[in-house]
Amino acid sequence: MKEYIENIILRICAGTTGNTIYRRPLVTCARADDPLFAELKKAVGPEHLLPQDLLPEASSVVAFFLPFTRELVAINRKNPYVAREWAEAYYETNLLIRHICEELTAGLADRGVKAAWQQPTHNFDQEKLISFWSHKHVAYICGAGTFGMHQMLITPFGCAGRLGSLVLDQPLAPSPRHGGQHCLNLKEGKCLACVKSCPSGALTPKGLDKQKCYSYLLEVDAYYSDLGTCDACGKCATGGPCAILEPGD
Ligand code: SF4
Ligand code: SF4
Repeated sequence: MKEYIENIILRICAGTTGNTIYRRPLVTCARADDPLFAELKKAVGPEHLLPQDLLPEASSVVAFFLPFTRELVAINRKNPYVAREWAEAYYETNLLIRHICEELTAGLADRGVKAAWQQPTHNFDQEKLISFWSHKHVAYICGAGTFGMHQMLITPFGCAGRLGSLVLDQPLAPSPRHGGQHCLNLKEGKCLACVKSCPSGALTPKGLDKQKCYSYLLEVDAYYSDLGTCDACGKCATGGPCAILEPGD
């Protein structure tokens, strides 16, 4: 079934009519009863949902990462402001993730499998900025990568891209969680390119000021008001060596 899911995601990404191009998607899985899901109530917030809240018969969780291209990363890195192409990629990819989840849910239903999912973004408390279903934490549990200084997930394909996830009522073999570390600063104490790239001062070596970051993202959304919702920045995601990786890096 994992292969079926991978093929659907691959086909949809290859056939997208938007301007954003993707590298090969990454698909990973976890058991729905993995004890780390309950830990998210501490790590993210007490309102964070469990897979069983999305689907009472939950048996497995699937996370997928749609990696952006090296070219898009370079465009955002070079632009003194957030590049229009980056804002557009954020908007288009959110639509694409919804499309993938809808098509997968329908396709799996035809095979007798129930699926449930959460929106790719804006599923958080607008005041506290705490997610009810954090795709990056869910993807971590699914073995998709490890967290960097910028508090984003660094996958074997890097961190520049977007994540989606679904809960299924059928078991899938869990993906291994590698003990490796992709963040050079956490590994060797040298990098902080993401911190240096942050235009708002929200990201420091001490951590992330979510409110400061989100205020900046809303400014970007207003600046590109002719696009759909694009409260995105990505300067920390594109500023360092972890933006684009290939498995084995
Ligand atoms: S998204 Fe932008 S503002 Fe927010 S932490 Fe990253 S670089 Fe800073
Ligand atoms: S830019 Fe450097 S310090 Fe920041 S997350 Fe990536 S590797 Fe770590």
